[in-house]
Amino acid sequence: RFITLEGGEGAGKSTQAQLLQQWLGSRGVQVVRTREPGGSPDAEAMRRLLLGGRAAPFGPAAEALLFAVARADHVAVTIAPALRAGQWVVCDRFMDSTRAYQGSSQVSGQELDRLERIAVGDLRPDLTLILDLPASEGLRRAGERRQPADRFERDSLTVHEARRAAFLAIAAAEPTRCAVIDASLTPEEVARAIVSQVSSRLGA
Ligand code: C5P
Repeated sequence: RFITLEGGEGAGKSTQAQLLQQWLGSRGVQVVRTREPGGSPDAEAMRRLLLGGRAAPFGPAAEALLFAVARADHVAVTIAPALRAGQWVVCDRFMDSTRAYQGSSQVSGQELDRLERIAVGDLRPDLTLILDLPASEGLRRAGERRQPADRFERDSLTVHEARRAAFLAIAAAEPTRCAVIDASLTPEEVARAIVSQVSSRLGA
């Protein structure tokens, strides 16, 4: 089974990925926890490039392509082998982040779909948990956690709100795959909501 966690900055995805891994482990499920950008040695190197290792950020075309390369490697090296071995995979961000973040006037949604198809083939998450909270609250949390902010966190509040709306639109369009979780609650409450979705939808 393949579970992804999605949402804006400061939504608590990494914390919840850890808690979900622990919970599944306590049920006897073997879990590989991974993340994007990154998740394989070479994709982690690309993560460092993407998140501000360079003097100037990539343009939209290079950024979209590099995310696709990193994802293709992550799927081939980490995700697909784990799923083939019967393990569960819990991934902190995946293709929906690209849909919410990399669309631009230079790279259309259709072109992103095409890149996604090349990178992941037919692989789709069995369940995508969209951790939703107001962008202002997410940025406040992210600011407390990490200084300096990475280059995506420095985008304007309007941009972050548009990404939130994009995640919610994905959830509305694909309700069988996606569940929206209220991420403004405490970590324990969010974890309970996630466990309830995972048990009811995947029978864990
Ligand atoms: O989730 P995390 O904070 O580790 O993500 C790293 C950064 O990469 C975030 O600022 C996120 O906005 C950005 N990102 C992106 N496009 C993606 C995935 C992540 O811009 N497809």
